[in-house]
Amino acid sequence: MKAGMLLAIENLEVRDIPTPEPSAGELLVRVEVCTVCGTDIRVFHHGHKHIRFPRITGHELSGEIVAVGKGVSDYKVGQRVAVAPAIPCGKCYYCRRGMQSMCLHLEAIGYHYDGGFAEYTLIPEVAIRNGCVNLVPANLSYEEAALAEPCSCAINGQELSGVGLGDTVAIVGAGPLGCIHIQLARARGARKVLLVELSEARSEAARRIADPDVIIINPAQEDAAARVAEETEGRGADRVIVACSSGKAQEQALTMVARRGNVNFFGGLPVDQPYIKFDSNLLHYGEFYVVGTHGSAPYQNRLALDLLAAGQVKVKELVTHHIPLDSLREGLRIAEAGEGMKVAIVPGG
Ligand SMILES: [Zn+2]
Ligand SMILES: [Zn+2]
Repeated sequence: MKAGMLLAIENLEVRDIPTPEPSAGELLVRVEVCTVCGTDIRVFHHGHKHIRFPRITGHELSGEIVAVGKGVSDYKVGQRVAVAPAIPCGKCYYCRRGMQSMCLHLEAIGYHYDGGFAEYTLIPEVAIRNGCVNLVPANLSYEEAALAEPCSCAINGQELSGVGLGDTVAIVGAGPLGCIHIQLARARGARKVLLVELSEARSEAARRIADPDVIIINPAQEDAAARVAEETEGRGADRVIVACSSGKAQEQALTMVARRGNVNFFGGLPVDQPYIKFDSNLLHYGEFYVVGTHGSAPYQNRLALDLLAAGQVKVKELVTHHIPLDSLREGLRIAEAGEGMKVAIVPGG
């Protein structure tokens, strides 16, 4: 099979390697779509503590089961599946308390195991046992199913932010995840959604794809915090979700939140610039909460598929590029340059 092998940092090659065969308890999936995530780019440039080279990366994937290992009874050949890449152990302190994404022994497809930038991928037994393999609802395309992964991370984020009925929610950043957050906030009952974004093109795309009623705020043209206050009778937003990797945006978010509200640092900061500076008295007097979230649990991936199937979150138009596996490097470049929203690697064509 063809596979995009990361041989070392910034050394990516599409090679012909033997197609793996499923051992007992495993599944072999023919990858139909694997979308490119910001972390794929980060891993390409910096590697990752859980990746040993050579490694096939890619973790937002969907495909068809083409072979089942001995002892697998819950799945069969021909089923369309989406794979939740983060694999909890199911046994540790956090898993037993229902916090699978905080698992002490968390492993991930595309990190500990080979991932989706290949024609086929092997799904390990521990992933199947812990509910990471979900059937794709009939009305969803493989492309939409692959995007259940980022959608499930947004679900995890909004669960911890506590987005609820009647809230005013400010989303900072109109990338693919910002667009998903906007729709999810509506689905959870937000009354008003504000979008803070520098790029006019991205704001307009978000308005078109995610929500025609979203209120767009451009921090290059106006004081974003003042505008958020103006839109909320001076209170600030009940929930602020920072869906970009900017320390400045995180600092600013702390000035946009209502008393007793919640700020979510949803986007991680660059490894070499992880510090921010803020007036601690904002917290002291505002009594608001700050949470960070990343990743998701298998049940959130299942829920994401259900929301996509119900049309409550629409992701189809987020995919702006379809790239064959042979051009994987180019796909990563397009994603990194921000030339589109979401890049889909399509190994079969
Ligand atoms: Zn991802
Ligand atoms: Zn665990």
